[in-house]
Amino acid sequence: QPGMGDAERKRICRIIDTETGRTAEVEGLIYRLIVRLHRYSLGQNNYFDSRHWKTGMILDDGVNGRAFLEEIAGEIHVTVRAAYPDGFLGNLCSEIEWLVDYFWKGLDCRRSVACHPPCKGLHEVKALVETKREGIPKVRCNVCEKFHDIDSLLLAATAKFPLEVVLAELKKVRTELAEVKDGVSGLNTDVRAMIAQANEQFELFLKALTDPAKDGPRLFSFEPVETGFWDKPKWISQKFRLTLWCEHSRLPLPMLTGDKKLGVYEIELTRDWMRQSAPFLKVLCGTLSLALPIAVPAVAAKLAIDAASIEAFQDQVDTGKAFAESLLDAGQKVGDWLSTDDAAELDSGHAMLAQGAMLRELHALLKQKDKTGRFGGLERVQNKRREFLWVHPQFKNEY
Ligand SMILES: [Zn+2]
Ligand SMILES: [Zn+2]
Repeated sequence: QPGMGDAERKRICRIIDTETGRTAEVEGLIYRLIVRLHRYSLGQNNYFDSRHWKTGMILDDGVNGRAFLEEIAGEIHVTVRAAYPDGFLGNLCSEIEWLVDYFWKGLDCRRSVACHPPCKGLHEVKALVETKREGIPKVRCNVCEKFHDIDSLLLAATAKFPLEVVLAELKKVRTELAEVKDGVSGLNTDVRAMIAQANEQFELFLKALTDPAKDGPRLFSFEPVETGFWDKPKWISQKFRLTLWCEHSRLPLPMLTGDKKLGVYEIELTRDWMRQSAPFLKVLCGTLSLALPIAVPAVAAKLAIDAASIEAFQDQVDTGKAFAESLLDAGQKVGDWLSTDDAAELDSGHAMLAQGAMLRELHALLKQKDKTGRFGGLERVQNKRREFLWVHPQFKNEY
């Protein structure tokens, strides 16, 4: 449902022969894309509403945007229109890359941006980003033969709202969201942008922790067992109450099941472990605090969730984020937002990526505590990109 004030962003996925570097036409790619991206088809409910043809398709991902995909001589042109288009755009490019990697040996997919019009030249995003990281601000286009500012080519991604602003706004509109039946057309541009931003953050968080997901879940909130702990300045080891969340519904297990003990653990964690994990814990809590106000309305029709429980978990992740921030070393910069590969600056994702080991240690601790069933009954599934997700059994057949 594109609306007023929406932005449009475009990426071109160039398919090339890795040996010669020449553009290669791939037979059957569009067909595979249509099948694979069916969940975004306009004809999901009624086939006759679908819009796809031999060389292209139109897709819709609600608040995350509407996309136009077209194959032109070995290039897949992807255009997304939305209040905040970057998340859906990145997602679609990743799907194309995955397909090319998986099904066509010897071919590679290069994410590119168009040169400034009227030039029809292309610039590879990866090359632009790496050039800029080397401190070189401009690149030369080999079609128009002009030098261009890298920033002007990358369009410096759509501006993001600060996390605090998004969170405050999402909490405010939470009840409103539950009443929005027919998609999101009733919401204003800013709110739609904020929801899409929160959705992108969630996807990027899971993507950054793809590897440790093999052994266990990635989403949890925590609080000290002992009240008044937050005021204790010096501590070495402390008992924390950990609650696992479902990676599909983005909700804590007790909220989904009504069982206050399911997926809840009391474990002793050291200050040292907490301090080393602080970048990860900060981004985790930030991501969950954004996910909760959107996740609750999505299940409101099926599940009766009491407001007190929502507030309690919202409070838990907000406090957890502040706590993690207080543990960061002075000068250790961890931003609120994760960013896509296009970001010319190294982002907090890199600080967090190194933290898979901390998560694995935690999985080992949880397994020791697990007497009946594993991880509160969360089940491991695989999405279409064969990445592991830990979901409540009621969502298992979505995979
Ligand atoms: Zn691509
Ligand atoms: Zn050019």
